[in-house]
Amino acid sequence: MRYSKQREQIMNAVRSQGCHPTADQIYKFVRQEHPSISLGTVYRNLNQLAEAGELLRIPICGSKDRFDHNTKAHFHLQCAACGAFVDLPEEVSEEIVRLLDRIRRQTGMTVAPESMQFQGICQACTAGQKRSAVDNH
Ligand SMILES: [Zn+2]
Ligand SMILES: [Zn+2]
Repeated sequence: MRYSKQREQIMNAVRSQGCHPTADQIYKFVRQEHPSISLGTVYRNLNQLAEAGELLRIPICGSKDRFDHNTKAHFHLQCAACGAFVDLPEEVSEEIVRLLDRIRRQTGMTVAPESMQFQGICQACTAGQKRSAVDNH
């Protein structure tokens, strides 16, 4: 009983943190209300939720995994400068799903969805708004 309560709290944290939080971010969030929860418990629950298909775990090259409450097939864009991590618009994701399907039909190879992650520079970074906070010389 207590166990499923923890899971629910962790699910809620992932949902309310909208922008694909890492396990550490989820831990910090849940801890505000439940100071006794451990990072290990958060990790364990996140793994189980991901295995059960209730969450998506997004492996990120050179960085920590992120978690997503949206389990529908979709793809992401990451800003290389500030690390912002957002969903591609739904229609674009659907087009990529069709594209991957075509690749599979024509080459016989199933492409791992994680390999379709886009890196770029977000609008705020392009405008120099975020960079000026870090780089001030
Ligand atoms: Zn950025
Ligand atoms: Zn997402």
